Amino acid sequence: MPEDNPYDTMQNQLEETLQYADVDEEIFEVIRTPDRVLEFSVPVRMDDGSIEVFDGYRCQFDDARGPYKGGIRFHPAVNEDEVKALAGWMTWKTSVSDVPFGGGKGGVCCQPKEMSEKELERVSRRYAKEVRRFVGPEDDVPAPDVNTGPQTMAWMTDTFSILKDKTVPGAFTGKPLNFGGSEGRVEATGRGIYFVAREAVEYFDGDISDTTVAVQGFGNVGSIGARLLEEAGADVVAVSDSTGGLYHPSGLDVKQLEEFKKTDSFENYDSQGVEHVTNYDVLTEDVDVLIPAALENAIDIEVAQETDSDLIVEGANGPTTTEADEHLVERGVPIMPAILASAGGVIVSYFEWVQNLQRYQWTKDRVNDELERQIVDAFEDTMGAWEEIETDSVRTAAYKVAMERVAETHETRGLFV
Ligand code: NAD
Repeated sequence: MPEDNPYDTMQNQLEETLQYADVDEEIFEVIRTPDRVLEFSVPVRMDDGSIEVFDGYRCQFDDARGPYKGGIRFHPAVNEDEVKALAGWMTWKTSVSDVPFGGGKGGVCCQPKEMSEKELERVSRRYAKEVRRFVGPEDDVPAPDVNTGPQTMAWMTDTFSILKDKTVPGAFTGKPLNFGGSEGRVEATGRGIYFVAREAVEYFDGDISDTTVAVQGFGNVGSIGARLLEEAGADVVAVSDSTGGLYHPSGLDVKQLEEFKKTDSFENYDSQGVEHVTNYDVLTEDVDVLIPAALENAIDIEVAQETDSDLIVEGANGPTTTEADEHLVERGVPIMPAILASAGGVIVSYFEWVQNLQRYQWTKDRVNDELERQIVDAFEDTMGAWEEIETDSVRTAAYKVAMERVAETHETRGLFV
């Protein structure tokens, strides 16, 4: 079966929402279409002296509510449609969480796992050089995504700053703490997942300390989300990475797994009582909360038909295909959509940008408190819309909130010439 094209998935989600949203049809055509997509080559000198030319992208989807905002991904599956979809999702994510940004996304089609640190630095610097005319604190503010992190942002900010002849920390977020980064940024998306899972479990009359959880993907988002859920008393019974899954009926030791993952992958993990399972098993386990936190299309129709979770909290962007989504809504499994559940990263990126512009550092407690307030507000706005509309899809409710905000700003601003 061909995989869903994520851009089609996003367009389907918008069309599905239109019937419930107070959005003028002409404005809808404006907001569903990306403003622009940059495609460029990223030539890099490899360690063996050869030159490789990678494809680079940056999509700027919508900036009506503020500068474009969104991550940069290094992955072999990066392509124009993926970048457009992810940039669109960022537009709805910044809107539903009510931060004054639009949406953008970028990437380089490459295999970072086969590249040295020096090669990654050269890819990062060349990428920053290619996009420098289009990004900046008032224009477009990139951040980390899959296979990029604080060091990538440091290289990119340094390159951008050198080419501008001044230090511009607000041009990228997700930077290291000693170079304009924010306290709490590394953990922000996982922490947001935890807040949304906690609120959603409570909304449906449960208690987070009394839940079982499965997490697909044990990177930045999945591992930190799992750790915070464990700290809140939940049993994280199943996790996976790209090499396979692990299962323990009374709960895995998440902190130990985090340590282990620093140097190894789950296929080599060995601990008493821990069973090796497939990635599919992790997605279909009988748990209270399932968190897909790897890549797009993880929950397809096959998984949706078999999954035994009572609630899905999307950590990854676009992890549920359209067909799977419809099936799960019909079955009455609530899905907290990524535009809400994984908004913690962009919310704290916004705080980082504010701190950079103010040249003032917030404390970790302040960052975490403001993140909690902002994401809980977004959850409440979404569930308020959900109670209003005649559909069981929480995703549609979140899109309604997001689309109406973006559309309203377009209406207020009007159309230039
Ligand atoms: P990451 O690279 O740190 O981690 C990805 C994890 O997924 C790794 O553990 C990898 O082994 C695992 N994985 C890959 N393919 C898998 C498969 N088939 N089965 C099981 N596991 C698999 O990336 P991340 O930053 O944690 O991002 C994960 C997702 O969350 C992406 O969709 C990203 O766009 C989204 N997201 C990230 C952030 C952020 O702040 N990092 C914010 C919002 C959304």
